[in-house]
Amino acid sequence: MKTIKILHMYADMLDLYGDSGNMEIIKYRCQKRGIDCQVTAYTVGDKAPDFSSYDLIYIGGGADLEQQHISEDLIKYKNDIKKAYSSGVFLFLICGGYQLMGKYYRDADGNDIPGLGLFDYFTIAPSSRRLRCIGNIVVRTKFTGRTVDVVGFENHGGQTQGVKTPFGEVLCGNGNCSKSKAEGYFEKNVIATYLHGPCLAKNPEISDYMIAYCLSRNSDEKVKLKKLDDSLENECRKVMINRLIKNKK
Ligand code: GLN
Repeated sequence: MKTIKILHMYADMLDLYGDSGNMEIIKYRCQKRGIDCQVTAYTVGDKAPDFSSYDLIYIGGGADLEQQHISEDLIKYKNDIKKAYSSGVFLFLICGGYQLMGKYYRDADGNDIPGLGLFDYFTIAPSSRRLRCIGNIVVRTKFTGRTVDVVGFENHGGQTQGVKTPFGEVLCGNGNCSKSKAEGYFEKNVIATYLHGPCLAKNPEISDYMIAYCLSRNSDEKVKLKKLDDSLENECRKVMINRLIKNKK
């Protein structure tokens, strides 16, 4: 079986609420199935990566300052990342990473941090830093083709607008904007979400969707993954969903 190659960008700066843990989960779930998975780190100052040679590019979330620091570096790779995405490389983006693939992120002081403009959405933070979307969140998704309710933790000032294909519908929490119905951005080879947690530890289906995608791309055969015992993860998620949805009423 092929090796899954992942590029993890700016892990030293964009790693809020355990976002790097997402890579641990993918590696763990691959290892359990005997799938070889290599995660390569890239950060500012490193040699330019060959983006199209990877199966998946991952960027976590970060504070405004970190986003500012990496933005100039990220912009250098606009065309390379665009090319990789167009050729089917998967983009997995959390919060700050999600915002930076849109047109721009306008911070609370009104400064624009340019995004790659890969997608049409844009993000604006309210001028008051106190107005943030913070808390646990439940999102009803259909990325697998059936309904999967995912849970996570959000903490963002940025209000993301202009998303045509959200990752899911908010059952509890805020999502793309304060009290919005939609959360994240989704395409066949893109999952962009505000969910920290780390998100994959709580929602095994997201890892498996991406692992299966990476194994199946460039192949005629659609890979079906061996099932793992996720009873503990599912039980934890059920408790969390019940608690959050009940508290909402
Ligand atoms: N700095 C951004 C915001 O507050 C992103 C935060 C994050 O990645 N959690 O909206």
